[in-house]
Amino acid sequence: MAIEFLDTQLSELTTIRVGGGADRIVRVTTEGELVELVAECRQIGSPVFILGGGSNVVGADSGFAGTVIVVATTGMQWSEDRVRVSAGEDWEEFIVHALDRGFGAFTPLSGIPGTVGATPIQNIGAYGVEISDLIESVSVLDRETLYQSELRPEQCEFGYRTSIFKKQPDRYVVLAVTYLLSPTVEIDVKYPQLAAVLGVAVGDRVSATLVRDSVLQLRGSKSMVVDTSDADSNSTGSFFINPTVAREVAPSGCPIYSLRMGDPREDSHVKLSAAWLIENAGITKGFSLHPEKSTIRVSRNHSLAIANPESGSAAEVIELASHMRQKVYEHFGIELEVEPVLVNCALSDLTR
Ligand SMILES: Cc1cc2nc3c(=O)[nH]c(=O)nc-3n(C[C@H](O)[C@H](O)[C@H](O)COP(=O)(O)OP(=O)(O)OC[C@H]3O[C@@H](n4cnc5c(N)ncnc54)[C@H](O)[C@@H]3O)c2cc1C
Repeated sequence: MAIEFLDTQLSELTTIRVGGGADRIVRVTTEGELVELVAECRQIGSPVFILGGGSNVVGADSGFAGTVIVVATTGMQWSEDRVRVSAGEDWEEFIVHALDRGFGAFTPLSGIPGTVGATPIQNIGAYGVEISDLIESVSVLDRETLYQSELRPEQCEFGYRTSIFKKQPDRYVVLAVTYLLSPTVEIDVKYPQLAAVLGVAVGDRVSATLVRDSVLQLRGSKSMVVDTSDADSNSTGSFFINPTVAREVAPSGCPIYSLRMGDPREDSHVKLSAAWLIENAGITKGFSLHPEKSTIRVSRNHSLAIANPESGSAAEVIELASHMRQKVYEHFGIELEVEPVLVNCALSDLTR
């Protein structure tokens, strides 16, 4: 086995740069190693936390009592209409490979950091596209039975920033994802902000290369690409998801988004802009709870992100997130839901 034991901690392995160590942190580079290690952990009773690129994880300062497995498996098997990609492949690199081969459908999801294996976990989405639209199947290892199987999209229970993997976090390890391929050189622009940057109308078709460039530009302006020269990008991206509420309780003035077609609540419910709710609860970009002693702040470029520009702690991140959620609740009676995965830590209870 060529597994590698890492002498490090979660703060070094996550984009928000917080979190302590673990009993052991192990990097695996083949599917065989990954399966064997999960089986070994089960045998010795060591709890497992699977880590990809660490871009959607907040690790507690006390770390994780168990084995953190860093998935760095590689491999892409291309056929005419699908590609099977190993979980540890870098998502952004995959998009570039696909675009080079004439498969541009993934480009609206450019700039989302992390690995391929994490793409189905919260059903990543941006600019009107969700990855569930492009998944043929997900190869999984059941952590309980150690059986491997291939899950079809309908078995993955995909929804807005959710899936069976998010709902049952200790059940599966994603070994690989098979994406559907169809030649795509032009994309329907579905998102008004992207259309504005491109100078086109929503619904117009634009070259996938141009879409990718514009998405990266737009994301960069909001610190939504990981960039070592931009301290506001030391984050998990959005810290909260846009809440879904009954249409009649949407606060006046709050931007609303339709639910996806086919959602049974499509007519009666809407998604609200969590960023608007936060700002209108009095929390501005750049806000810090304790500026005199903590550098943790709301990103200066996006009110939905919490940034760790220096060497803040998970406890400070959690305190600020709890405050943001409390303020939104007090102003609007709406409970924000956390997007990233909190390892061994939790927001404080809402005061109702
Ligand atoms: C600047 C920035 C911008 C972002 N923008 C977006 C955005 O626009 N849209 C969006 O949807 N997300 C966004 N994100 C969130 C994040 O990038 C995605 O959720 C991404 O898919 C996480 O990938 P990862 O490999 O870093 O996963 P990690 O953070 O390592 O893990 C996330 C979760 O997935 C689990 N996991 C990871 N790999 C596996 C596996 N192989 N098997 C089983 N479980 C696994 C982990 O256990 C954890 O629960 C952003 C994050 C940042 C920092």
